[in-house]
Amino acid sequence: MPLSVVPAPSTTMDIPLVFPGDPVLANPVSASLAAIARTFSPDTVPTLPRRLSPSSANVFRSCPKRFYLEKVAGYRGPGSVATVTGTLVHRILESLWQLPVEDRTLDMARTVLCEVWPGVRDLPETVASLADDRSYRGDAAILAKARDLLECYFTLEDVTGESTIEIPFEGPVSGQELHVQARIGDAEFHGFIDRVQTITLPDGRLHRLVVDYKTGKLPRKADYLDDYWFQQLTYAVLLRAQIGVTVAELRLVFLTGRVFTRTVTDADLDVHEAEMSEVWDGVQACNRDARWPGEPTILCGWCPFKSFCLEFQMSGIPDRNR
Ligand code: SF4
Repeated sequence: MPLSVVPAPSTTMDIPLVFPGDPVLANPVSASLAAIARTFSPDTVPTLPRRLSPSSANVFRSCPKRFYLEKVAGYRGPGSVATVTGTLVHRILESLWQLPVEDRTLDMARTVLCEVWPGVRDLPETVASLADDRSYRGDAAILAKARDLLECYFTLEDVTGESTIEIPFEGPVSGQELHVQARIGDAEFHGFIDRVQTITLPDGRLHRLVVDYKTGKLPRKADYLDDYWFQQLTYAVLLRAQIGVTVAELRLVFLTGRVFTRTVTDADLDVHEAEMSEVWDGVQACNRDARWPGEPTILCGWCPFKSFCLEFQMSGIPDRNR
């Protein structure tokens, strides 16, 4: 049953709809508007999401207006070469970790790349993303970038010394691309975990960790990891709620050159669980009040809606992503 949405005219009336064939397609700024319009169906009825993923929760935390536009009204920003590369590398690592330990080599990863790429290339979202991205210059650059990321990956994680676990949801389920879902407070949360793993420590104790691969740029400061940790903590809360497993470590693997880790306790997860509930309460309050305020920050430069967002345009904040 879809959750009803109170119309939010105060934040959406300023959005000019742009359709293919519109002259704005000819100018670079509006090309992204056109890409957004292509992904919007006029039949879409604004609907509150039935469940929240960590990324949608993060969108709401950073800007309720953007959350409304993307997650409620159904607008989508343009895809990019970077998202296609990310999908490709995630698929390769998923396949790699399913192989016997002795086969997890860089050469094998390169072989898997060749096997996986045709399937990724044919995905409708890949085709749409490459059509949207003006920087796309052919598949060779994507494959070269993926090779570079894999090469770096093998300097970051020991793929032979650790093993993935089987998690008993409803029968054995691989610890790769694991779908987790649970009710937290009044809301349903879900997500896909890149890898859940158990390491046997020298003293025989089991050490469980949640691993997430990132193919984007390295954050310039550890302070900028807040959204990533929110995502990881959400996964850990969902694992605990769904199967009673308490994760001891969160690991963010940036294939561009660095691994960040963080230990967690049950008390940390209790605090985070309360934060997750607050996010949903915030969504409900915005919906009830029919008010989804924009919250301009320096990150607006990377928001697909920046060209027609009055809050950003009037904020005086410079666009650092022109
Ligand atoms: S431009 Fe900034 S304020 Fe406007 S919707 Fe995007 S993130 Fe929010």
